[in-house]
Amino acid sequence: MVDQEDLRFEIPSYAFIALARRGMEKISLDQCFLKNCDNQDPELLEPFKKEEYENDKKQVKEIHIKCKKCNGIFILKLETLKRVAKSTKDKDEEVLSMGMVYALDEKKNNLGHIGYF
Ligand SMILES: [Zn+2]
Repeated sequence: MVDQEDLRFEIPSYAFIALARRGMEKISLDQCFLKNCDNQDPELLEPFKKEEYENDKKQVKEIHIKCKKCNGIFILKLETLKRVAKSTKDKDEEVLSMGMVYALDEKKNNLGHIGYF
């Protein structure tokens, strides 16, 4: 059995979208990314499954989430690129751990790149 609260904890609260020359915009990941659904209530989002895999270049985590408003299922795909770790006291550390978030539908069709986390 998967603990839902643990799964919730694995989802970053925010993603960042790069705006051309204007810095980053912060968006909440507590929302339904399915078309025609405007659910932004975390109480109505139920993460229920996690898949994890990795290859030479990246670590991938897929969190399956059920939306109780539209009754749809979508997947947040979190990709972290692997880098050779430099000094851990390096200020660039945050940049090194930066990952990408994508939204997928139930059949793993890509709904789009959401941003960075
Ligand atoms: Zn929804």
